[in-house]
Amino acid sequence: MMRVCPICGKEYDGYPALSRKDNCTEICPDCGTREAVEVYTLYSQEGDITFIMEDKKNTTSVVGFYYGEPNKENTREFRGKLTAEFDEGEGA
Ligand SMILES: [Zn+2]
Repeated sequence: MMRVCPICGKEYDGYPALSRKDNCTEICPDCGTREAVEVYTLYSQEGDITFIMEDKKNTTSVVGFYYGEPNKENTREFRGKLTAEFDEGEGA
């Protein structure tokens, strides 16, 4: 039986994951994995830049940034937009 995930709207087959938000909504395994990732922001006052960080078990990565102080809308919009690594300063 195919199920429809209420979060992404995709049909999926197999065992559903439980949403961590309410512990009873059945969601697809992909969204389950996504919810297991902790997202938080790190604000740098010096540059007036907010970095979007993702914590997966033992790995922390920067997945996006925007100028200004942290806010939910920008975090959602810019999350995942960053693919490049940061340079260790300029003109080394
Ligand atoms: Zn889903």
